[in-house]
Order: sequence, then C-alpha cells, then structure tokens
Amino acid sequence: MNPMALSYDQHFQSAIARLKMENRYRIFANLERDAARFPTALWRPEGEEHAPREVTIWCSNDYLAMGGHPASLDAARDALERHGAGAGGTRNISGTHHPIVELEAELSDLHGKPAALVFTSGWVSNLASISTIATLLPNCLILSDALNHNSMIEGVRRSGCEKQVWRHNDVDHLEELLQAAGRDRAKLIVFESLYSMDGDIAPVEKIVALAEKYNALTYVDEVHAVGMYGARGGGICQREGVESRVDVIEGTLAKGFGALGGYIAASPAIVDAVRSYAPQFIFTTTLPPMVAACARAAVRHLKHSGEERARHQHMALLTKHALRAAGLPVMDNVSHIVPVMVGDAARCKAASDLLLRRHSIYIQPINYPTVAIGTERLRITPTPRHDEAHVAELVEAMVDVWSTLGLPFTESHVIPLQARASASRGPCAYLELKNAAE
Ligand SMILES: *Cc1c(COP(=O)(O)O)cnc(C)c1O
Repeated sequence: MNPMALSYDQHFQSAIARLKMENRYRIFANLERDAARFPTALWRPEGEEHAPREVTIWCSNDYLAMGGHPASLDAARDALERHGAGAGGTRNISGTHHPIVELEAELSDLHGKPAALVFTSGWVSNLASISTIATLLPNCLILSDALNHNSMIEGVRRSGCEKQVWRHNDVDHLEELLQAAGRDRAKLIVFESLYSMDGDIAPVEKIVALAEKYNALTYVDEVHAVGMYGARGGGICQREGVESRVDVIEGTLAKGFGALGGYIAASPAIVDAVRSYAPQFIFTTTLPPMVAACARAAVRHLKHSGEERARHQHMALLTKHALRAAGLPVMDNVSHIVPVMVGDAARCKAASDLLLRRHSIYIQPINYPTVAIGTERLRITPTPRHDEAHVAELVEAMVDVWSTLGLPFTESHVIPLQARASASRGPCAYLELKNAAE
C-alpha cells in the first residue's frame, strides 16, 4: 500500500475522531417515508438484521405534510409522464421549461412581487442572491442578524463586502449601525422572518421602517414561514402587511411546500441581475419539470386553503401545552417550532437514541454548530398529520426518557410525578390540562 495514501486518510479519520470526542458526530436514521401514512415511517436500524420498524416522525421540516398531498403528487406524476425525468440542462443551455416558468409566476403572485427566480435549493438561493446583490452595489455594507442561517452567512462571505453583525432581533443596534453608515452608503440588511431553532419571529415592520429611514435594501429569508403564515401562505411579511415594503423575499420549496428548490421574489431589476450574474444559478441544471410542477401545486393549494395552516398551529400549540404540563422544558415562542431544551450534546443524543429505540419516536438531536454549545435541544415539529394520540405517545415517551436519563423537569409542571408515571392510561391526562394551561 502506498504509505502517502495512508497519511492522507489519517487526516480525515482524525477530523472525524474530533467530532466524536465532542459528541458532534452525526448519525442519520435510515427512514422510509410512507406518503399516505405520514408521520408514520419505516426505520431500518443500522447494522441490525431486524425487520424495519414503524416509527413516528416528529422532526420533519415538511411542516404541512405537503410532500404527500394529493395535489402535489398528481402534479408531479402528470409532469413526469408528460415531460420526462430531468430538465436537460442549465437555464442558459436548454433547461428553461414551461413548469418552471409557471412556478416563478406563481411565486411572484404569492408575494405580490413583479418577478421571481427559482434555484435548486434554498441554500443556493441565499448564497447566490445575497452575494450577487451585494457585489453589484458600490461599496455595499451588509448588516446581518447574528443568528442568520449558514446559507446567508456564506452569501455574505462570498460577496467580499464589508459586513457588520447586529445583535439578534435588536432593532436599536441595527439603527446604530445604519446611522453610523449614513444614508448615502449602499446598505443591505439581511435577516430571517422566523428563526427555526428558537422559533422566534423578527420585528419585520420595524426593520423595514429603519431601512426606509436610512435608505437601505432589505433581504428577508422566509424559509420557515412560507406556506405557513399569511392569508395566502406568503409568510410573516404577508401576515404583517409589509410584503410590498421588503425588497427581496427568499423562500424554499422544500419545507412548507414539501418539494425541493429555493427562490427569490423581488423587482424585475434585482431578479434579472441575479439571473444574469449569479454563477450558482447560471452553471447548474434546472430543477426537473416534475419537481417544479409539484412545488407549484403546493404553492397554489396553500394560497386558497387555510385548513393546513390552522391545523398546523393548533397541533403545535397542543404539543407545547401537553409537554409543558408534563414538566418538560419547552422553550417559549410564538411559532410552530417546539424546542425542548437539553443543554448538553451527549445527553441530547442519548435522549434522541432512547426515543427512537425504546419508543419508536424519531427526533434528531440538534447540537453545535446548528445551535450554540450549552443550548442543545430536541426540536419538535408537529404537522397537520399528527393527532392527539400521537401527542399523548410523545409526552409519555419524553417523560420516560427524561426520567431514565435524569434530565431535569421544570419546576412549574402542573402534573404531579405520580400522574406522570400513569400517563400510559391515556392521552388525555395531559391534553385536558391544555385548557388549564391557556
Ligand atoms: C433550510 C434553510 C435554508 C435552506 O433551504 P433548503 O431549501 O433546504 O436548501 C435556508 N434558510 C434557512 C433559514 C433554512 O433553515
């Protein structure tokens, strides 16, 4: 064997060993989703010869279960039959197809913007759009929220522009930075409308007002809000009535809309410039027609149907109340995200493992660098397809895991220990308490 090759490999092995030592090494669960029975799925334990096991998914970002919606599936099937599997190239070569043009029209209408542009993912859309927009402005200063997603940070980096980070959701700090930069300098404010780890929501109206006052451009990532908030599923800016005052809205087709892809909606000049200059758009093959058609069907469905949104919020609220009533440390927020705090990487992973192995409940641990060290958590995402029986199972399983691992319950729990132990008698000990908690 070539001894040089061996030494190369050692670097990779020691990099992996470092992650394992810090309890940050990630193991993926091998799951087989069943579109008709979501959130039920089949899990194949790694290295075990057992038959696959049925588990309940509690951590999917297919927030509204649109990935299995008949409208989406019919559209995908029909487009596959009519147009075949792939797009056949980049948009510049031969990859512009009718379904993607229709999807862009649907998205520009969704956000009340004159134009939209679709990318292969939300991650790519942030990288491409932030870096291109900032680069095309003279001496642009980027003002970035401290908790922005990795894809936005990568976009800021790639632009090579000066960057200042404002304290998370702190509009006073943002104003200080805007004031110091002055009205005349080009400024791009980048932030998210809904932060997916804590589930908190940005003060979008205040940010937009500051941008107007100091003549800055605004770029908002609505990835965790599109489909789920606003009268037509346009997101938080739509709900707050500030869509027309935000310059660029970025979203994904992969979470609330249940398919794949990302996009921006903005003015024709911005969209045309990104289309013409962003290598992450120019040099990669377009989404296949079936994916574009599928995403479009979901967007269109959610424009007219509020049913999924209402049930989604209801199930999130119910889950939070039930977990809290059982003494589990649910972080408070005003969104559909249900973070349950553990605060330690090894114990967070242990809790996740135990939930899966003992209780057939799948919740991936959220550890650094996704969240800060010391704030490791289980991030629970109820969907409209979860029901009260699922919630009861979840509460019972979480209580058992917390007890088994000696994780702390909150002081304020309203169910005595004894009742916790007898939770198996039925869902409803916890669920009935929800009204008391409200
Ligand atoms: C998931 C995510 C993205 C990336 O979207 P994908 O379509 O999954 O690539 C962008 N921004 C935020 C805030 C996200 O959580």
